[in-house]
Amino acid sequence: MATPGYYGKWGGAFIPEVLFETFKELNIAFAAAKADPSFWQEYLDLMSTYSCRPTPLTYAENISKHLGGAQIYIKREDLNHTGAHKANNVMGQGLLVKRMGKKRVIAETGAGQHGVATATMAAKFGFDCTIYMGEEDVMRQRPNVFWMEKLGATVIPVTSGTKTLKDAINEAFRDWVTDMEDTHYVMGTVCGPHPFPEMVAWFQSIVGTEAVEQISKFAGKLPKRVYACVGGGSNAIGIFQGFLDTPEVELVGVEAGGLGLDSGQHAARLSSKDSSPGVAQGYHTMFLQNDDGQMNDTYSVSAGLDYVGVSPILTDLWEQGKVRFEAATDSEVMAALDMTMKMEGIIPALESSHAFAQAYKEAGELSPDDAIIINMSGRGDKDIFTVAHAYDDPSWKEFIIKKGAEYAA
Ligand SMILES: *Cc1c(COP(=O)(O)O)cnc(C)c1O
Repeated sequence: MATPGYYGKWGGAFIPEVLFETFKELNIAFAAAKADPSFWQEYLDLMSTYSCRPTPLTYAENISKHLGGAQIYIKREDLNHTGAHKANNVMGQGLLVKRMGKKRVIAETGAGQHGVATATMAAKFGFDCTIYMGEEDVMRQRPNVFWMEKLGATVIPVTSGTKTLKDAINEAFRDWVTDMEDTHYVMGTVCGPHPFPEMVAWFQSIVGTEAVEQISKFAGKLPKRVYACVGGGSNAIGIFQGFLDTPEVELVGVEAGGLGLDSGQHAARLSSKDSSPGVAQGYHTMFLQNDDGQMNDTYSVSAGLDYVGVSPILTDLWEQGKVRFEAATDSEVMAALDMTMKMEGIIPALESSHAFAQAYKEAGELSPDDAIIINMSGRGDKDIFTVAHAYDDPSWKEFIIKKGAEYAA
């Protein structure tokens, strides 16, 4: 029997002693929920009435014909409430918080997407909500901060360290230690100390369960390959879980190649040679760090993939050769986004566009008798500032300048 919380040699729970009791309580509550079929049924009911589950599987007919290879199907996690797969995780944890009788949730957020999803869940369940966000990110992601506050959350800008995600995580842990009775920490992805990777993977498994059923029905067979982008790894593990017992289906995780793997400006943990094993943020995995164990700065056009660590579950699957890792560069990602919008009328998030880019690169190698699935983790509307900037769109610039002048006057 493997030790709980370990995936091969990866994972674990490296937590301060003051949190032992809280984690014990969380492990017990989670195990009880997992063993109780009525909990999963309550989750399914909630996701079908408050989010849009089951999300559709869309056949990308135009692009499949254009590339002349495999038939391409898109799993539409963008159609979830708040526009991404993050809803699957936060709503699940919300139900667990209700079951534990706690009244307050806290979370860290980098780009703000997980903060918005958590604030939404808190509003729905009537929890108090505090979101920790690096001061640097608060400035960069104003629209998300705006919505978190309007949804009733308190956003606390973190001014320590580099004023970004990792500092926000530290601050959120500090908060948790002072108020463990009433507070639950809503981890945003399949990382951090046990039981978070297992718990988040369980909630996200809904994606894979649906996808297997849908592709079998529509294509009449299993896909040859399944593509998903990898930040922390939650949308990838979500869909991959549907195909782990069928080794003929190849699973492909796509990381942020940024300006290219040779540039050093990327967030490729498992597809580059730049990472090494380490323990940080409560778990053991491959980190982008220097020889002293200091975390490196990562870079990606998509904020959601810009992370130094990666899920211990994926690191183990990678080591076992069960998931292949690739990287897509910013420019490949922009080209894939452009093609998906123009040919299918679908706007993927910049994160998701990494999976599209890799699938488009490889679709031609396969036969028109083959099917592949791209997991579309989220919708791209949120990226309007970044995408408009990348297109160097003159009328958008004019609009922003005019708006600015209106406020300055
Ligand atoms: C947050 C986010 C990601 C990255 O998170 P994972 O845990 O790797 O799934 C990917 N896509 C979108 C749209 C996101 O919002």
